[in-house]
Amino acid sequence: MNLDHTQYLANNYALPALEITRGKGSYLFDSEGRKFLDFTSGIAVTNIGHGHEHWVNTVSDQLNKIVHCSNLFSIPEQVKLAKRLVNKIGRGKILFCNSGAEANEAMIKFSRLVGKENSPKKHKLIVAENGFHGRTMGALSATSSPKYREGFEPLLDSFSIAPLNDLEKFSNMIDDQTIGIMLESIQGEGGIRVAENEFLQGIEKLCKDKNLLFLLDEVQAGIGRTGNFLGYQESGISPDAVAIAKGLGGGFPIGAIWLSEKWCDVFKPGSHGTTFGGSPLACSAANAVLDVIEQEDLIIKTREKSTFLIEEFSRLKKKYSELITEVRGRGLMLALVINEDTKELIKILRQNGLLVVGAAGNAIRFLPPLTVKKDELIEAIKITESALEILQREKTK
Ligand code: PLP
Repeated sequence: MNLDHTQYLANNYALPALEITRGKGSYLFDSEGRKFLDFTSGIAVTNIGHGHEHWVNTVSDQLNKIVHCSNLFSIPEQVKLAKRLVNKIGRGKILFCNSGAEANEAMIKFSRLVGKENSPKKHKLIVAENGFHGRTMGALSATSSPKYREGFEPLLDSFSIAPLNDLEKFSNMIDDQTIGIMLESIQGEGGIRVAENEFLQGIEKLCKDKNLLFLLDEVQAGIGRTGNFLGYQESGISPDAVAIAKGLGGGFPIGAIWLSEKWCDVFKPGSHGTTFGGSPLACSAANAVLDVIEQEDLIIKTREKSTFLIEEFSRLKKKYSELITEVRGRGLMLALVINEDTKELIKILRQNGLLVVGAAGNAIRFLPPLTVKKDELIEAIKITESALEILQREKTK
């Protein structure tokens, strides 16, 4: 590890085990020349892998045309991207920003504007236990886990919390200050906990009956990751607004919210904005990601690869039943849940060439790029199986 790392970088992240210098396809390379199978995808960001030729060429061409000009001007790449997103999500409009937290921040502000139109009282959103919506003060207020909130209170007093997949508890939370419900279709940081289709359909009906907004945070589950363009599309529901980011830019920062047709003109000129949001470079990167998803049929292929991985994980769960308690997730957003802290297993996997990422509740996230090859999946399973063998042996010593 470069000693300057600890001297010059703020202490807000755990000390990293590797220094990464290069990425290609499903692999990362470190400064000591070692090669790792990357099943973190930069936490569900590099969904088309590292250095995809089409992405690199598109972004390089754009660098030579224009990088930034601000939203004082119409930007062809931005308009093109907005149209493509509307075609994939539903009739409505797009507001661009730069990250997942910013997208949720915009969605929370959107709910405030709708609330004010309804009644001055209405400002509260009901969110799910174990949800994660980002680190800005608004998005953090919507995040219930004390781990993220500690030290930053008082936060916004606009969120109530109910357990995921418990429709009755969500319903009981509604009061005359409630303006909507905000959920992840699959909780990422919370431990790959899937919001069941019937639950999402129940929430949709509840929102319709009670005149509430239904807001979805698809920041981690979006952009093909779950075998649908967005995670909630599996359940056939129609939300009022959706937040996306992470995988959208393929590694270049970009976020967005989609607003359904009913609400798409709630924001007025000057009511919200950002200097960088939807820049020519960010949008060309995102357009290149969508090109690859479409041209390489990645949504369908994600489902096929998922079936294979889930079968293999289920086999490992049977074989190592004393270690693995659950296999969770959908598409290529999967987790092995183990009955102890995940740090040791993550370390053994890394030492054997596979990078994965932990999540709450002893979950180990496997987030390969959607472009991952069959032989790379087989390699990952082999490494996981031998790492579980090592951990089991260590435990029985
Ligand atoms: N929402 C969800 C569901 C996330 O998983 C994350 C990040 O992990 C965020 C929001 C915040 O995104 P960002 O880190 O880009 O601000």
